[in-house]
Amino acid sequence: MCSADSTGHRGQSCLRLASAPWYSCTHIGRYAVNPQPKKALARRAAPHIPQIAGASRVVTLAQFWMGRDAVYRAELTEQIARNAAQTVERVNRLLAAFAADGVALRCRPDTGSLVASGWRPVEVNARVPMAVPDSPHIDAAACDLYDPHNELDAWCVSNLAALAGLGLWLEHPEYTDGWCHVQIRAPRCGNRVFRPW
Ligand SMILES: [Zn+2]
Repeated sequence: MCSADSTGHRGQSCLRLASAPWYSCTHIGRYAVNPQPKKALARRAAPHIPQIAGASRVVTLAQFWMGRDAVYRAELTEQIARNAAQTVERVNRLLAAFAADGVALRCRPDTGSLVASGWRPVEVNARVPMAVPDSPHIDAAACDLYDPHNELDAWCVSNLAALAGLGLWLEHPEYTDGWCHVQIRAPRCGNRVFRPW
């Protein structure tokens, strides 16, 4: 239903919360109870700093538009703008849930964005391989997150209650190799995890 525009190169990580021990509340708490010399902490943290610098933990509205808000301004209705705001808000809450569980967030190497595909005007959607003509990407009700190792998909499938709490539905991972498609409205079948056809 909703192939990503382009998945880019695989395997590059812009942020690995799992490998960032100083970022974990658990570790921060432990240091607070048993403070270590500052020098020792600095030595431990230094190798990881480049991964945090410039890394993204959120999706911005601009990243969701992918520049198409300017190119396809005539198609950008008030309803699409409202949908986009809601999609980005829920996606960011999902990203926070990933981060809380130590799931790695990865950016597309070519754009530096967590978004693999955001808003797709009709003309853009028609050029996306395997995309259905009535894709929720067209009215900004869906977002694909870059997921080269399908880790985000795996988390979603294992946390359906959390997904429901966020008001998100997931396209079945079998159809989204390399990205994670979530949308803010129920599919026709009503299933939390749905197949596109
Ligand atoms: Zn999609």
